[in-house]
Amino acid sequence: MIEIAYTRNEFFELKKKWQEKNSPQSQIGFVPTMGNLHEGHLSLLEKSLTENDLSVMSIFVNPKQFGPNEDFTKYPRTLDEDISKITRLFFEVSNRQSGKEKSIIVFAPQTDSEIYPEGFSTTISVGPVTQILCGKYRPTHFDGVTTVVYCLFKIVGAHNAYFGQKDYQQCVVLQKMINDLSLEIKMHIFPIIRNSEGLALSSRNQYLSESDKKDALFLHRTLTGLKHQFEEHNLEIAMKLTSPMLEEYLKDSRFDYLEILDGNTLSPINERTQKIAILGVLRLSGTRLLDNEVFDLYAR
Ligand code: AMP
Repeated sequence: MIEIAYTRNEFFELKKKWQEKNSPQSQIGFVPTMGNLHEGHLSLLEKSLTENDLSVMSIFVNPKQFGPNEDFTKYPRTLDEDISKITRLFFEVSNRQSGKEKSIIVFAPQTDSEIYPEGFSTTISVGPVTQILCGKYRPTHFDGVTTVVYCLFKIVGAHNAYFGQKDYQQCVVLQKMINDLSLEIKMHIFPIIRNSEGLALSSRNQYLSESDKKDALFLHRTLTGLKHQFEEHNLEIAMKLTSPMLEEYLKDSRFDYLEILDGNTLSPINERTQKIAILGVLRLSGTRLLDNEVFDLYAR
């Protein structure tokens, strides 16, 4: 069954009705989004559907995570199309898993006060990891993300939460919030979904011209070229080889940043590093395109 809640009270009522019909052991999965759904978002919902009895997908363009001169107003809002896509996926997965009854609640608050009631003045701020990489260019962005995700976690009350590796720094920041505040929710991170040419899907790709879309492929090629050094060489040699490569790439002023860091902490690589994150942002016609490669060091 698919149901839509436009207010938090409608959500609480739908969840209560679902709980009355299901055992206390039933699992709830949660996929927070800003809507304008593409295959990346849907891959997360599909995971949630297969692993939980009830899946909640929120669709809320969160004003707190946009800076003053960013694209909050023009961010694409396509709720009807989103609901059609969710419905199609729901029937596909239900047919595949016949026998196990699944439910979805789409939580699509229509006003900001459904998330931030009048007088709301709390900010959840995780600290230093929010001020590096994207945080240098968007200093209040991650506080906006952690604040909305915390509020949504509290409203939804899920056991599992699903996020995309595409926003890798966001995943690290949210995992830290979960750990620091002992939140009882398990975070699951899933791979980046790309188009056939390798461009990571993003709602913001529609701001790009056809020629920008071609130029955008350079970002993924850069990241895989750097990753290749770690596949071919040990850590020490790979770091030596990639350091001049990074310097050369960064001469291209379209890069906001391009960095190789410890994948668990986003701090510089050290002797305890087991996971590498190569992260980059390329700016094309004013649109910031994020991409990354994250891999275990000793698995190759
Ligand atoms: P957004 O609507 O941009 O806030 O994204 C909602 C969720 O979808 C976040 O966890 C994103 O990381 C994830 N996501 C966005 N694009 C992709 C993609 N191309 N592949 C996988 N997950 C994605």
